[in-house]
Amino acid sequence: MPVNHNVYKQLIADFEKNNSQLVAVTKYRSIEDVNALYNYGQRKMGENKVQEILRKAPLLPENIEWHMIGHLQKNKVSKLLPFVNMIHSVDSLELLLEIEKQAAKIHKDISILLQVHISDEEQKYGFDLTSFENVFFDIEKLNLKYSKIVGLMGMASFTDDQSKIREEFKSLKHLYDQLSKNNSSLNVLSMGMSGDYQLAIESGSNMVRIGSLLFE
Ligand SMILES: *Cc1c(COP(=O)(O)O)cnc(C)c1O
Repeated sequence: MPVNHNVYKQLIADFEKNNSQLVAVTKYRSIEDVNALYNYGQRKMGENKVQEILRKAPLLPENIEWHMIGHLQKNKVSKLLPFVNMIHSVDSLELLLEIEKQAAKIHKDISILLQVHISDEEQKYGFDLTSFENVFFDIEKLNLKYSKIVGLMGMASFTDDQSKIREEFKSLKHLYDQLSKNNSSLNVLSMGMSGDYQLAIESGSNMVRIGSLLFE
């Protein structure tokens, strides 16, 4: 499944207009496909499995920025850290503390997005939306040294109901605006995938994670 260059160019042009960034999701894709994206200029690549980052990173150019976007288990943090630039899916305090501990061991700064649960689907991970402000204040007080908390991530429900998706994205945007008023390091809002990225951008996303749409 080759990369669709026209779609890629169009997306990049749209995102530039909106000051948002594309994370190209390369899960299930071959090394050749990732290389094709790289040659078009794409540098941020997203994967949802630790194994895939460990397999692909050594075979591809070093200046690719790997983004971990899937659920991360604590026992895989130490293996993943040397290869990854940003983790979008930090969904518990325990996981965050494990990342901090392992990052300290290798003296590596790591960009973190805290994942917030905004959909009505139980299986999706993330911090509870309604109690998140307090959790966030507690996390700020930890003054973590290596884990740089730069933003929030959320996934909308899998539904055709556009207004529901928009509401979910807006709820996270609202939270993000509230928190970033008092915290200048928060500047990434990761929302939107192939099926709902337009709604996400309209709702204030500035980082979109797109996979299937990029491939023919
Ligand atoms: C797979 C995945 C995406 C991209 O999904 P597409 O529908 O292929 O664009 C985005 N975010 C996460 C967390 C994913 O696992």
